[in-house]
Amino acid sequence: MRIPFVDLQIQYQSIKDEIDQSIKEVIDNTAFIGGKKVEEFCDNFSQYIETKYSIPVGNGTDALFIALKALGIGQGDEVVTVANTFIATSEAVTATGANVVFVDCHPDYFTMNSALIEEKISERTKAIIPVHLYGQPTTIEDICNIAQKHDLYVIEDSAQAHGAKYNGKKVGTFGDLATFSFYPGKNLGAYGDAGAILTDNQDLADLCKKLANHGRIDKYDHEIEGFNSRMDGIQAAVLNVKLKYIEKWNAHRRRAAQIYDTLLENVAEIITPKICDKTLPVYHLYVIRAKKRNDLRLFLKEKGISTGIHYPIGLPFLKAYEYLGHRPQDFPVTYKYQSEILSLPIYPEITNEMINYVVDKIKSFYA
Ligand SMILES: *Cc1c(COP(=O)(O)O)cnc(C)c1O
Repeated sequence: MRIPFVDLQIQYQSIKDEIDQSIKEVIDNTAFIGGKKVEEFCDNFSQYIETKYSIPVGNGTDALFIALKALGIGQGDEVVTVANTFIATSEAVTATGANVVFVDCHPDYFTMNSALIEEKISERTKAIIPVHLYGQPTTIEDICNIAQKHDLYVIEDSAQAHGAKYNGKKVGTFGDLATFSFYPGKNLGAYGDAGAILTDNQDLADLCKKLANHGRIDKYDHEIEGFNSRMDGIQAAVLNVKLKYIEKWNAHRRRAAQIYDTLLENVAEIITPKICDKTLPVYHLYVIRAKKRNDLRLFLKEKGISTGIHYPIGLPFLKAYEYLGHRPQDFPVTYKYQSEILSLPIYPEITNEMINYVVDKIKSFYA
């Protein structure tokens, strides 16, 4: 059996007619950038997450960058985020001229350890960017309380968590701003790059909208200088169709995760993901901790099973951040886990038979 890590083809085949029709409408109307489909999608998406405003941008990294710019963050400021995330989170901070300050992740949940945030806050700190990593909501209420106490902004990086809930509320509704990525492999993925910024704050929404489109209010009327980060009509056409299925797809991911949980329960060499209290995760990734991780990964590959590592080098230990002078003992959990974590194949269409096959092979590796 061959088991890919993700399978975008099988999902396309299941909704092909709708997708093709929706894309065709964009081309027929030559509404290639912005336009009706983009507006429609943004309305639908903010309705789905339950925020007042949704601003379309070019991708999830730009969403973070523009959100930071809208908050006036730049040179001399510090932004606190988690050591275990994709580099886009910290890249966006550095791109504004601000300095990134890392916090170690929680030993059970892989997300930011909120107990370690306050020791990282200085007079220069302006914002916290928690990440709902792997589709697992971070302890967002604690983080917002800390932010409020220190008068800091919160930007929720929700790139991996479309539809996930904390305490019954969707992630993306807690912070001052939230950012989403619609990179093709994400739970809600376009057929190219796309992203969005969500907020309930009208002033921030207006500013983000301006910044994402050359600072313009009307064509050639520029109040400020901005950037070019817009959503294509074709991406919105795809996302509009796929948004209708996201709840179903997320439920299928949870079901797949539950089967993995059950089947792997008695494998002593494996630790399955723990779910934080009050959260409804959406399993963008299903991440286990495994003994002899590298050997296991190779063994699975030989058996036709693709896996991933998210992420093989914690951000503070990357060459890109060597200048910060961090040592392994500064982020002990992130450091330890980078050689243990393994992402198993998960996507809505994965079958019981496939999950059984993966688990069988894991068991035979350790036998
Ligand atoms: C994917 C991702 C991003 C960046 O999104 P792009 O659309 O690829 O720019 C940011 N943060 C996290 C946690 C991500 O997983």
